[in-house]
Amino acid sequence: MKLKIHEIFYSLQGESSRVGLPTVFVRLTGCPMRCVYCDTAYAFSGGSNMEIDDILTKVAEFGTPYVTVTGGEPLAQKDCHVLLKALCDQGYSVSLETGGAIDIGPVDARVSVILDIKTPDSGELKNNLWTNLAHLKKTDEVKFVLCSRADYDWAKDFLMKERLTDKCPVLFSPVYSQVVPSDLADWVLADKLPVRMQLQLHKILWGEVPGK
Ligand code: SF4
Repeated sequence: MKLKIHEIFYSLQGESSRVGLPTVFVRLTGCPMRCVYCDTAYAFSGGSNMEIDDILTKVAEFGTPYVTVTGGEPLAQKDCHVLLKALCDQGYSVSLETGGAIDIGPVDARVSVILDIKTPDSGELKNNLWTNLAHLKKTDEVKFVLCSRADYDWAKDFLMKERLTDKCPVLFSPVYSQVVPSDLADWVLADKLPVRMQLQLHKILWGEVPGK
């Protein structure tokens, strides 16, 4: 069984509650969405087909227990579920970064899902699959990538209405070079929001380069 893989690389996890942990990233090719701020458009096409056993062998070479399956949109390839299960079976601590347009219901329960909710200014609000909210578990995280103050206000209202922080941790992240991080920090503090503000550690360390 093969998956189209754009890259497999080793770096520090730049986001979520796992930030800073040495992690192997398996980046799958392709995504059905086109967020205005996308920083992985290079993964929309290309890559090469890899057998799942070969992916597991490559991941093992890095010798770290943390694996993140990402994209593109990893769930756009239905056999991604086979990879996720195989990684869990081998004892890895696995997270999945998904854009939120595809059903997370079939994802192995051992996987920590980092689920994006697309905001109005992302340009992809219409593609949120709202039924995904019912599948969230305590070990998952919801992420809002914010393009503007208007996005922040929308996200704040949404998380209150849906009582999202009762389901799992919520992440607020400013679009790199678009929202001033200290502005977002001030907004979160002023509203006393029970969210984790985060910056993308890998971009602070290395800038916007693939494979980091
Ligand atoms: S869902 Fe992710 S990979 Fe797809 S366009 Fe949006 S930011 Fe890029």
